[in-house]
Amino acid sequence: MFKIGIGFDVHRFAEGRRCVIGGVDIPHSKGLLGHSDADVLTHAICDALLGAAGLGDIGTHFPDNNPKFKDINSQVLLGQVKEEITKEGFKIENIDSIVMAEKPKINPHRAEMKTTLSKTLEIEEAKIGIKATTTEKLGFVGREEGIAAQAVALLSKVFVLLFFVSIHALAVNPDSLLKCSAKYFGDKHEFKFDFQMLSRSSGTGGETQRRGTLITGGKDRFTLTMPDMQIYSDGTNLWQYNPLQKQVLIKLLSDLENKLYPSEVLFRYLGTTAISVKPELWKGSMVHALTLDPSKYKDQFKAMEVWLSPKDCSPLRLYTIDNIGNDTWYSIENLSKGSFPESTFKFKAPAGTDEIDMR
Ligand SMILES: [Zn+2]
Repeated sequence: MFKIGIGFDVHRFAEGRRCVIGGVDIPHSKGLLGHSDADVLTHAICDALLGAAGLGDIGTHFPDNNPKFKDINSQVLLGQVKEEITKEGFKIENIDSIVMAEKPKINPHRAEMKTTLSKTLEIEEAKIGIKATTTEKLGFVGREEGIAAQAVALLSKVFVLLFFVSIHALAVNPDSLLKCSAKYFGDKHEFKFDFQMLSRSSGTGGETQRRGTLITGGKDRFTLTMPDMQIYSDGTNLWQYNPLQKQVLIKLLSDLENKLYPSEVLFRYLGTTAISVKPELWKGSMVHALTLDPSKYKDQFKAMEVWLSPKDCSPLRLYTIDNIGNDTWYSIENLSKGSFPESTFKFKAPAGTDEIDMR
């Protein structure tokens, strides 16, 4: 679950005050006036965090008539806010912010602000955005009467993960998950699903993405449909149809050099053994991520992984690293069991198709 919050704060300039922004004391001719150290950015972030967690605002938590908070370092307040939201089970996903000031210049201090805030909040610096702008000499900011700051924060609830991790440690055995997955498929292996394949080349780092639909009929029968290629196999013959060139290559399935038929892509993990299992987040739900022993496919892969649905052990993602180091993610969507007539796996050439029979 995600929650978003917004915060806004303004402090006016005054003589004889420090100018603290984002926890950094910035040398300037004037400082910011306020009950605390008047750290305008930190206050905006406090309000964004409290708002996202549904915990009110900074004024109710740290009233400005309480002498306890007189001239207090706002990092202390931010630390307390962090504690409050953590108690509620929230985790900070990221924070973004804007400081609006004509002077002093914010940019030279931005890195230090990020470091300070990330230490207080105990999150990575990369999760904190700080931008600075002037207001083109317009308004109170433009007349250098004060500084304004705005922040947004995104929080997520973490108890689901903790719960899942704890039951995981107790109840989940990687081998029984694989058995459960084999049970899901049964022995008919007649399925239809959409897939998305994302490959990254180890050499160039280049990424290839493909989408398609695969129907499997068991016994090496399959129909693979992609935008630029359709492949049919009836278990004996293989048709490779290029819809753009209107050309079909017909081969014997047994002549294929690569014995890894697409129908196997889905099922090959079932022939391996699972080494370990850990929970992973996939499309907002916790799933079982199994690390597999790739030795059965050692000619092709040096690493294999499958992510299984905790509901029925059906596969959601497959991951492989081949022996050259290229890695591939296969995401499976809309997986359904079916019973497909023999004609599903035979190619019917549209009129005007150029047939090249290589059998
Ligand atoms: Zn304030």
